[in-house]
Amino acid sequence: MKLLSRYYASLIAVFMLISPLAFSAAESSQRLDDRGAIKDFTQAIRLNRQDGESYSNRGLGYANQGNYQQPISDYNRGLAQILGEKNSIVKIKVENLGYEDLQNLKAKIPQNVTMLTFDDGPNPEITPKILDLLDKYNQKATFFVLGAQAREHPEIVRESKRRGHEIAIHTMTHPDLRQITPEERRQEIQQSVKVLKSILGENFKPVWFRAPYGALSPGIREQAYRSRNNEITKEINEYNLGLAHWTIITDDYVRNPKVSEIANQISNGSGNILVMHDSWKKNHTVAALEIGLKRLEEQGVTSIRMSDLFER
Ligand SMILES: [Zn+2]
Repeated sequence: MKLLSRYYASLIAVFMLISPLAFSAAESSQRLDDRGAIKDFTQAIRLNRQDGESYSNRGLGYANQGNYQQPISDYNRGLAQILGEKNSIVKIKVENLGYEDLQNLKAKIPQNVTMLTFDDGPNPEITPKILDLLDKYNQKATFFVLGAQAREHPEIVRESKRRGHEIAIHTMTHPDLRQITPEERRQEIQQSVKVLKSILGENFKPVWFRAPYGALSPGIREQAYRSRNNEITKEINEYNLGLAHWTIITDDYVRNPKVSEIANQISNGSGNILVMHDSWKKNHTVAALEIGLKRLEEQGVTSIRMSDLFER
């Protein structure tokens, strides 16, 4: 099948990607005891605001401290404190999170959160391990799934959603959108949405779309996306999906990935949107995530879903 062979070609092409972007160093932080967390957090935010300093990491540990069995409702309650509290961090309204948008928005991502995102899954060997690790550290993530993979492993997509993660669109077969026809682009998006609705229910409404390779159209990339009448991207716009780029792409896709290197990228991920891959043979991603999540916990950095911070 034409699309399928293109998919395998894309898998190979994934190894030649964009160089990692700069990332800021994570701040160290103190852990708080259970009862003090929220109170101290809001105080810390206010104090820091008054002092004109950056957000403190303190208190965000509420969502991921000690007790790994903490139910999701507690996570959401903690998150309300993080995102909704007056004088603290509020949701950021955006149209798109493209490369250029993020140049400006990056400074607004609080230093005590990170957004872990996983592309190209679900994979029956890798994704369940990632889900268990995220649970162990009580962190949330966004999965940019491939429709073709989702169709093969619907139970993993359902489980990801059930455990509180966000599901987003990454096309059916991972083509370079610049290389296919408008009709093929339409199919890639339309089918992805259809597959996910069939798995997660008709009410499922995806918010974010990440283009394979971050590539949208020759030369003009995101400008094309913004122009609603543009031939190249009108199929994507039909579903009113927000473009979702990243600020750090981890080295988990390179030819000889180093677990320590990827773990460092994760643990330096505060204030960033990170890309990892829960696809075929990504055992090094799992190993790095275990180390990275532990370090993020020590720093009091919480991983949140893209829609926890950004609103369209
Ligand atoms: Zn991808």
